[in-house]
Amino acid sequence: EKNGPALLGLGAMGTALARAWLAAGHPPTVWNRTPGRAAPLAAEGARVAGTAAEAVAASDLVVVCLLDDASVGEVLAGVDLTGKDLVDLTTGTPAQARARARWAEERGARFLDGGIMAVPPMIGAPESGGYVLYSGSRALFEAHRDTLAVPAGTRYVGEDPALAALHDTALLSAMTGMFAGIAHAFALVRDEDVALQDFASLLAGWLTAMAPHVYSTADHLESGDYTKGVTSNLAMMVQGNATLLRTAEEQKVSAELLTPFMALMERRLADGHPDEDTTGVIDLLTR
Ligand code: NDP
Repeated sequence: EKNGPALLGLGAMGTALARAWLAAGHPPTVWNRTPGRAAPLAAEGARVAGTAAEAVAASDLVVVCLLDDASVGEVLAGVDLTGKDLVDLTTGTPAQARARARWAEERGARFLDGGIMAVPPMIGAPESGGYVLYSGSRALFEAHRDTLAVPAGTRYVGEDPALAALHDTALLSAMTGMFAGIAHAFALVRDEDVALQDFASLLAGWLTAMAPHVYSTADHLESGDYTKGVTSNLAMMVQGNATLLRTAEEQKVSAELLTPFMALMERRLADGHPDEDTTGVIDLLTR
């Protein structure tokens, strides 16, 4: 058995991380504000520290998985981090990650930020496809690569500590839009003679078929030509929006999830871009 990392925070995610390191034969030294949450892990072989400082002292590699960035500051306030490798798996913003990196370096630690692209049941289950985005100290990442790879796949995205949070929040933002679309679709069909499981299967297939749209968006942004390879143009899509809105009205479903995006499509069309797809909407959001 090889000693695992110090792990601070035993919420749903921290507990899953602890179990993954236990299962791999790297028992972590764990600490949690509410001590009761450590008891089941102690029974499974984890070492339990009485304080955050005691946990940190137990390993060169210190992993924190707490509620938010403020709780990370609270838990580590006054703890000696000299010579430590701090990995922050707490979800935060890019600016918070950058500030936390500076904060850690001032205290003599190397810093790696992580964004977990998985839910707890996907931790320690490689076949689930879950992974963690990492950014910050490449030296830290390389030094602890094998330990970090135990709970989930790893994707190192760059030296700037903000990059993991930026990727994480961008992916989650896209997911939010997708969930909005799913909510509207089910609202349309749910009171009709539609087998919801069958509909779900059609919807999953359709969303999967549409997903490669992301590659043409990247291509458009890189080339600056938003009309390249467009098969469904904005003029046609705006026309189609009217049918979607009219259907919502017929079905007595609020269109409030759709209309903000449709309004941007109309603005871009009115600006004189009928032959683009929806890439131009990105310009309206950022310029
Ligand atoms: P939980 O709410 O289950 O756990 C929160 C943890 O933070 C607990 O250990 C809690 O301690 C601790 N905590 C909160 N505030 C403080 C504080 N002020 N001082 C000390 N400890 C504090 O959350 P999760 O475990 O689910 O999530 C942890 C992180 O992982 C979050 O940043 C989340 O965004 C991220 N994550 C979670 C995912 C999920 O699906 N669960 C998915 C991807 C990322 P106590 O037990 O004492 O309350």
